[in-house]
Amino acid sequence: MKGPPPTSDTEAQRVFDLQHAASRHQAAPDLATRLDRLGRLAHLITGHEAALARAISADFGVRSRTETQLLEIVPTLSAIRYARRRLAGWMKPERRRVDIMFQPAKAWVRREPLGVVGIISPWNYPLLLALSPLVDALAAGNRAMLKPSELTPNFSNLLSSLIAGTFAETEVAVVVGGIDTAQAFSSLPFDHLVFTGSTAVGRKVMQAAAVNLTPVTLELGGKSPAVICPDYPLEKAARSIAFGKFVNAGQTCIAPDYVLVPKASAHAFAQAVMTQARRDYPRIADNADYTSMITQRHYDRLAQAIEAARASGATVLTHEDAGVAAARKIGPTVVLDLPATSILLTEEIFGPVLPIVAYDSLKDALDFINARDRPLALYAFTHNEQQHRRLLDGATSGGVTLNGTLLHIAQESLPFGGVGPSGIGAYHGYEGFCRFSHARGVHQIGAFNAFERIGPPWGLLASVLARLLSRR
Ligand code: NAD
Repeated sequence: MKGPPPTSDTEAQRVFDLQHAASRHQAAPDLATRLDRLGRLAHLITGHEAALARAISADFGVRSRTETQLLEIVPTLSAIRYARRRLAGWMKPERRRVDIMFQPAKAWVRREPLGVVGIISPWNYPLLLALSPLVDALAAGNRAMLKPSELTPNFSNLLSSLIAGTFAETEVAVVVGGIDTAQAFSSLPFDHLVFTGSTAVGRKVMQAAAVNLTPVTLELGGKSPAVICPDYPLEKAARSIAFGKFVNAGQTCIAPDYVLVPKASAHAFAQAVMTQARRDYPRIADNADYTSMITQRHYDRLAQAIEAARASGATVLTHEDAGVAAARKIGPTVVLDLPATSILLTEEIFGPVLPIVAYDSLKDALDFINARDRPLALYAFTHNEQQHRRLLDGATSGGVTLNGTLLHIAQESLPFGGVGPSGIGAYHGYEGFCRFSHARGVHQIGAFNAFERIGPPWGLLASVLARLLSRR
């Protein structure tokens, strides 16, 4: 596709300098300004919903219009609504306790804007993952520069022109371009840098940010497990797993990557997932609701992984309409009996292929999860409270949905983020507001300063007080 040329590094630096100067020389944006910015962002989306969905679909080849609405547009608008309704309360200074030895005095926390926030986003949910960090950054009173993915050029160019028509470049600006542009972008001395993408690139972004001592929020990927406990109805679990795995053709950071199933039920569960997949997507090739792989490279990588699994003796179950290379689509696929070295078990899958790992006991399932990097999400299916607790206590993850998949990300009242290799720092809602604010502690001395009155010179009063205070 033809679009505007990539933003030059000089141009990105110029906009950064403008935003930086504005953040240092202008007063922190008040409530009205922040509400207005969030309102304009909401208007940008609602005024161009169809064009945004069309651009995203053109980038994918096929991307379900309904999925773009339900999984990108609706959550971004919900995040804006949630923040606008609560912002006045979040911005109020928070009174804190002052110890008796420092009385009379007052103490409080002011949450102040950090300044300029950089946002680097991936292609898989291009609108949500560019704009949802922006909502939190604007709510916290910051200015922001966005660098969307080069793999969604139609969307990135449209976003760039919509943002330019909605915001002054001192408020929000978009930088477009490929990996070179992204590298230069990550070297700008932002006050905070949010990166959503792969763990490998996250490492490079953190290194670039370290040079400027820029704090980072890294929203990364990994292999998110689902555990089915023996008591949970297989069909019900299959429905939730098929939903979480096959929307956006599995190109979802929190999709269940693999499923741990009691040994006796593994084959029945595999069949149940395929039955559900055929119900959800009766056809694949000409189904506008079944999404393509984003590029040929992504298609080939996964097609080769499936072939390698087959060659290694694994059982591969595919949708009848699975051979749809022309539409760059891979139909829902379930794989059983994989060797431990298969890349489907060692690398993040990021596509509509579901390995099933059979387990003997819940302890084995937990050991399997804990032998790997801490995942971004964990899904546990059981009606037994004790088993929920055992799984929550036994394996950590960025977030959790119990008896379902994906939906913890849609709860504005919950922090969203990874842990360890799946990410650093969480955002969304109040946690997002705090993430992009500086918590500035303020202590105000009252009518007299008792602490200073005891000395120096340090005398008897000081030593008696010191003894009393250390024995409290
Ligand atoms: P990616 O890491 O390849 O690219 C993400 C962004 O980084 C793009 O905008 C790209 O231009 C930029 N980039 C590439 N190289 C760079 C460099 N050297 N320096 C600075 N920036 C650079 O990721 P992707 O393929 O677009 O997305 C898929 C990955 O993202 C998966 O691992 C997935 O799990 C993860 N992801 C995580 C979340 C989350 O919220 N945790 C959400 C979506 C995707």
